[in-house]
Amino acid sequence: MQNYTAPTKDAQFVLHEVLEISKSDIPGYADLDRDFTDAILDAAGKMSSEILAPLNAVGDTEGCRLENGVVSTPKGFKKAFEAVKEGGWNGLDLPEEYGGQGLPYLVGTVVGEFFVSGNMAFNMYQGLTHGAIGAILTHGTDEQKATYVPKMLSLDWTGTMNLTEAHCGTDLGLMRTKAEPQKDGSYKITGEKIFISSGEHDLAENIIHLVLAKAPGGGEGTKGISLFIVPKFKLKADGSLGARNAVACGKLEEKMGIHGNATCVMNFDGATGYLLGDLHKGMRAMFTMMNEARLGVGLQGYSIAETAYQNALAYAKDRLQGRAVTGAENPDGPADPLIVHPDIRRNLLEQKSFVEGARAFTYWAAELIDRSHRLGDEDAEGLVSLMIPVLKGFQTDKGFEAAVNAQQVLGGHGYIEEQGMSQFARDARIAMIYEGANGVQALDLVGRKIGQDGGKHAMAFFEYVKSFIKENEADAALKAQFLDPLKAASKDLQAAAMFFVQQGMKNPNAALAGSYDFMHLFGHVCLGLMWARMAKAAQAALAAGAEDAAFYEAKLATGRFYMARQLPATSLHLTRILSGADPVMALGAEAF
Ligand SMILES: Cc1cc2nc3c(=O)[nH]c(=O)nc-3n(C[C@H](O)[C@H](O)[C@H](O)COP(=O)(O)OP(=O)(O)OC[C@H]3O[C@@H](n4cnc5c(N)ncnc54)[C@H](O)[C@@H]3O)c2cc1C
Repeated sequence: MQNYTAPTKDAQFVLHEVLEISKSDIPGYADLDRDFTDAILDAAGKMSSEILAPLNAVGDTEGCRLENGVVSTPKGFKKAFEAVKEGGWNGLDLPEEYGGQGLPYLVGTVVGEFFVSGNMAFNMYQGLTHGAIGAILTHGTDEQKATYVPKMLSLDWTGTMNLTEAHCGTDLGLMRTKAEPQKDGSYKITGEKIFISSGEHDLAENIIHLVLAKAPGGGEGTKGISLFIVPKFKLKADGSLGARNAVACGKLEEKMGIHGNATCVMNFDGATGYLLGDLHKGMRAMFTMMNEARLGVGLQGYSIAETAYQNALAYAKDRLQGRAVTGAENPDGPADPLIVHPDIRRNLLEQKSFVEGARAFTYWAAELIDRSHRLGDEDAEGLVSLMIPVLKGFQTDKGFEAAVNAQQVLGGHGYIEEQGMSQFARDARIAMIYEGANGVQALDLVGRKIGQDGGKHAMAFFEYVKSFIKENEADAALKAQFLDPLKAASKDLQAAAMFFVQQGMKNPNAALAGSYDFMHLFGHVCLGLMWARMAKAAQAALAAGAEDAAFYEAKLATGRFYMARQLPATSLHLTRILSGADPVMALGAEAF
């Protein structure tokens, strides 16, 4: 039986004591005082733990069904979807002029975490709609915005993203779906898309598919790709639903996890589509959405790990096995609880220190996105776009690892479906693959992001870490336990970046052979930085005589664990990177 309680206290700690959001100069942040965010987070936490989480296992066991072209979602999903609609949750951080509440993206991110932790598969119906709205708001005409956004914001209609085809996922230049221009300015879209999340379902009146397709005259590869709006039901002149469009779900994919989300093969048979954004600039339109889409997937990584951790922790406190090596801790019982054993604690702390570090990192990235959107701050935009492949790749890898660790705490019971732990691992796995597989995130980081704008953003990141260390090193405890390890890890990162700069042009394989290690090295430095920032805030709270000293002591102990036991991984990653291309490329393909 799975359980989830939203970590509102920890979220509030990051928002108010680490990021100090209500003191920020970002427009809209001054309104985010503790009482206000408390009210939102409490309501979101309740929604997640009372409505979404109880449907998580139902979604997993029941899955979606396709009958006569109609996809049914698992029992209870419809009612829960109505509750999310009624709560106005989808419009929280969307513009007021379309019916939203206009709150910062950061607030939507925190709520998103709670919803994903409760039920990732369910939340994807809303999450993809939110992403599609973003694309329409950024690239649509005023008419398109007025036609689609209010209905999608209210979740009367949902949205999808159709990129992948059977023969092309990463390499979208190979795409075959065609768009033929019509006299009335619309296009006929023909082709087959696969693996489309929320492609067809029974939760909404209409589904607005955003589809990448090739229109004539655009040239080869990704250059010829444009983005189209293809509604499931065409709209009449007054905006009401008209005839069914020529788009249908041909098959539901059988898959490892997220069974509650309908993953569809979508057939477009001359479906009517409307150009979104500029002709032949579809890839660029998709790219503008990328930071938020990838942050959303990186968030899935640690959000699933949070729930898995909560369940593993409860089990470790309850399950009696063996005795503590230093003497019985439950002398009246037949054995001690699992949590007395050092290796179980190691396991739990690996999960806990990752989840809390990743939460802080994700909220910081969301704050930078607000800074770039609301203040037009290009440095913030550059920094976040540098860190996004790290956030996506590292956090989803580690999130899966944490979910497997949580399963391990339950021993054989973790492997048996009844306990629900295997679902967390199965659900977490997809986040490493979609929205750009993690190997491709590493490629993006090393091939594009570190050198972007002459390496300006990478330099800004290093400078940020350096200044944080310098400003705080007078504090001896912080220095020894947090800043010195962070400095060493940051040096490893700089040495790796320098190696790539030197090797990049003359030996690109050397950079790419080390790209995955670099992404993880970078991820550890980001979490190390966030732990140092959290430790500073926790120390300040304790020094000020905070009421809940136990919370801050736990924060510091968890941070010390991360710095002592996780962060040193940077030196292994650097060693691998410096070994260059040979160990990876020496074996010819025929010799494998
Ligand atoms: C459950 C699920 C839901 C999905 N939802 C959607 C959706 O809503 N919309 C949508 O459009 N798509 C969706 N996808 C598709 C997903 O985004 C793709 O599967 C993913 O992008 C990878 O593409 P691919 O499967 O074709 O793998 P490939 O591109 O064939 O890649 C295979 C492997 O090779 C690696 N690789 C590829 N090229 C390179 C390179 N140049 N250098 C190094 N390594 C490389 C990749 O990292 C990967 O590990 C979904 C997939 C699944 C399974």
